[in-house]
Amino acid sequence: MAINLDALYDKKCTCHYCKNQFLSKRVRSGSQKVLKRDTDFCTYYQQQLLNPIIYTVSVCPACGYAFTDLFSSFMQPHVRQRIRDNIWVKWQEKEYGHIRTYDEAIAAYKLAIYTAMLKEEAHSVKAGLYLRLAWLHRFQKNEQEELRFLNLAANEYEKSYVHSDYIKGDKEMSETRILYLIGELMRRVEKFDQAVSYFSRAVARKDRTIETGIISMARDQWSLAREEYKQKQASKQPAESTESEPLS
Ligand SMILES: [Zn+2]
Repeated sequence: MAINLDALYDKKCTCHYCKNQFLSKRVRSGSQKVLKRDTDFCTYYQQQLLNPIIYTVSVCPACGYAFTDLFSSFMQPHVRQRIRDNIWVKWQEKEYGHIRTYDEAIAAYKLAIYTAMLKEEAHSVKAGLYLRLAWLHRFQKNEQEELRFLNLAANEYEKSYVHSDYIKGDKEMSETRILYLIGELMRRVEKFDQAVSYFSRAVARKDRTIETGIISMARDQWSLAREEYKQKQASKQPAESTESEPLS
C-alpha cells in the first residue's frame, strides 16, 4: 500500500558530534488515525509504515552519530573521544533521512542505543529506545527479538526508577506510570514475581495519583500475571500417568 507522503516532513537536525546539518523525516503529529494500543503503550496506526516511532531516531550521514530529541547535546571530551574511536572512524556513509522500512528503523535504533551507551545517556532514554525497538520487532512478528529487547527495556526502566532519572528524561513519565510499565514488561518476559511486585506498588499509589486509568490497568494486569504464573506452574508439573482407556 502506498503511504501518504503528506504525513511526513523534513526536520533539520544538527549532529551533536560533528555539527553537520542534515534532514531527517518525521511524521506530522495528528496525521495518523490510532487503531489500537497494547498494554505496554505500543500504538498502532492506520498506516503502520507511518508510525512515528519509525522516524524517532536521527542518524548523521557524515559520522554515524545517532540520536533522538531526548539525547543531551553536551559532550565531554572523553565522550567525544569514544564517539570518534567507536563510531566516526568505523562509519561508512549511509543515508537514513529518507522513507524508512522497518529494517532501516531497527538499524537506526541499534545505532542510537550504541551511541547512548557510549555517551552514558539517562537510563530512561536507553529504556525508551529498547522498548520501541521491541515494538518494531512486534510489528514484524519476530517474538524472540521482541522479548530480548523488552527484557533490556525492563532492566533499564528499573534502573531509571531507582535513580529517578525518568523525571527529567521523559516528560510523559510519572512514578505510577513507570511502576506499571516495569510490571507489564516483566509480565511479558515471564518474570512474574517482579511483575506482581511492581503492579502492587503501582496500585498502592491509588490515593496519590490522578492517573486512575493506569491504576485500573495495573489491577487488570496484576491478576493476569497471577493467572499466567499459575498456568506456568501447572504446566511444569510432571504429567500424571495416563492409563489408556480400555477399548470396548
Ligand atoms: Zn555527525
